[in-house]
Amino acid sequence: MGRSRPREQAPARRLAALPRLCAAAVVAACGCHASAGDAQKSDAEWASARRQMVDVQLGARGITSPRVLDAMLRVPRHLFVPESARAAAYDDGPLPIGYDQTISQPYIVGFMTQALDVGPGDRVLEIGTGSGYQAAVLSLLARNVYTIEIVPPLADRARDTLARLGYRNVEVRTGNGYLGWPEHAPYDRIIVTAAPDEVPPALVAQLRMAGLMAIPVGTSWQELKILRRSESGMKTLETLPVRFVPMIGKPSPRL
Ligand code: SAH
Repeated sequence: MGRSRPREQAPARRLAALPRLCAAAVVAACGCHASAGDAQKSDAEWASARRQMVDVQLGARGITSPRVLDAMLRVPRHLFVPESARAAAYDDGPLPIGYDQTISQPYIVGFMTQALDVGPGDRVLEIGTGSGYQAAVLSLLARNVYTIEIVPPLADRARDTLARLGYRNVEVRTGNGYLGWPEHAPYDRIIVTAAPDEVPPALVAQLRMAGLMAIPVGTSWQELKILRRSESGMKTLETLPVRFVPMIGKPSPRL
C-alpha cells in the first residue's frame, strides 16, 4: 500500500488538540536521541534506553500508573521489532513490523494500557496482535491475554516471540477480530489496536458489564475512545486524536 506517513502522529503534533498534555511534553518529545546504527547494544544499554523511554516519553506525559510503567520497563520492546528497526525500538514513534503494519508508539501503548486499568485477575482480549508487544505488556498486568491477528505470518511471529520470551499467559489466534473470541468471553477489558469505522458489535457483546474497552474509531480522522459498557450502552470516558492502521476484514451486513 506504500503509505509513507507514520500512522500514529508524533505527540508534538497531537498536543495542539490536547490541552491537558503540558508544554513540557513537547520539549520532552524532542529530547529523544537519534539511534540509527546502534542495534548491537548490550542488555544494560537496552535497559537504559528503556528507562529513558519510560521517564521521558511516558512519565513526563501523564502515564503515572506504577504498574504500567513497571511493565513497560520490563518488556524488551527491541525483541518485538524486526532486526532492521531494532536500533529505533525505544524511539518516540511507531515502527514498521512488516506486512504494511506498525508497532504502536510507546506513549500510545502506555496511554491505552493505563486507561484500561487492568487488574491482576482480569481476562483481556486484544484485537491486532501485530508484533505481540502490547500483548506482552498486558500479560504482566492481567491473568490472561487473548489476542487475535488477521495476518497469518504476523500471528506466527508474535506467537514465537511471546513463547520464546516466556509470556505464558498469552494466547494468539490467527483470525478476524471483528468476530471477537467468543470461547473465552466475557472479557474484563478489550483493546483494539487497528481502527474500525465503528465499534464492532461482537466486541461489545463480549465485554462484561462495566468492563472497559480502548478502541480507535474512524477512517482518515480517528479518535481513540475509552468506553465503559453499561446497561444503557457504551459510555465514552476519554478520547484522544490518533492515527492507527485500519482494521480490515469487516464482515458485510446480513441482508
Ligand atoms: N498491538 C500491536 C500493533 C498493532 S498494528 C503491537 O503491539 O505490535 C495493528 C494490527 O492489527 C496489524 O498487525 C493488523 O494486521 C491487525 N489487524 C487489522 N485488522 C484486523 C482484524 N480484523 N482482526 C485482527 N487483526 C487485525
